[in-house]
Amino acid sequence: MALIPKTTEMLARDRRNPDRWHQVLPMDEFLRAAFGGRFKFGVDPDYEATLRIRTGSMFCWSCGAETRIVLYLEIAVGDKNVLITIPNLGEYPRASEMVRRRLLRHQGIGVIKYRFSGSQGRKYLSNGCVHCDSLIGEFYELDAGRDEEPLDTYQVRVADGWKEVIDSRGWQDTWSVRS
Ligand SMILES: [Zn+2]
Repeated sequence: MALIPKTTEMLARDRRNPDRWHQVLPMDEFLRAAFGGRFKFGVDPDYEATLRIRTGSMFCWSCGAETRIVLYLEIAVGDKNVLITIPNLGEYPRASEMVRRRLLRHQGIGVIKYRFSGSQGRKYLSNGCVHCDSLIGEFYELDAGRDEEPLDTYQVRVADGWKEVIDSRGWQDTWSVRS
């Protein structure tokens, strides 16, 4: 049998329990997959992921009014949970466009878009004030008081632009045989 671990750090006592392994399959099947290019790294694109949009409230540095921003996205796949902030999500245009559109359904939250930051000398995907649209800089996001409940929870297909996001956040250690 071919035994494929869930992580590189597997406890010795778990090695004897087939349920503790990520995948267990006959050796010939494993070899066919490996030579056929189906033994792959990272999250399986066929999976669905649960996305939770986590928000917080703060006072705008520019207009002084209270506004709500996205602190981070929580992405749950299988038994793993990874987090990504809006500026980091900006490196993945497909995923960030989906989130931007999803946020338009909600009132009272600033638009997610690329804004120019004078202090960083570059444009990046950012939160903005819901009242005056000023950039809420990524370091100021830390000042926001975190809301208890997620603003939104929904399912996405990993294949729809989320694989790169999830792999970049801690799925590096996972290999699997794809059908
Ligand atoms: Zn403002």
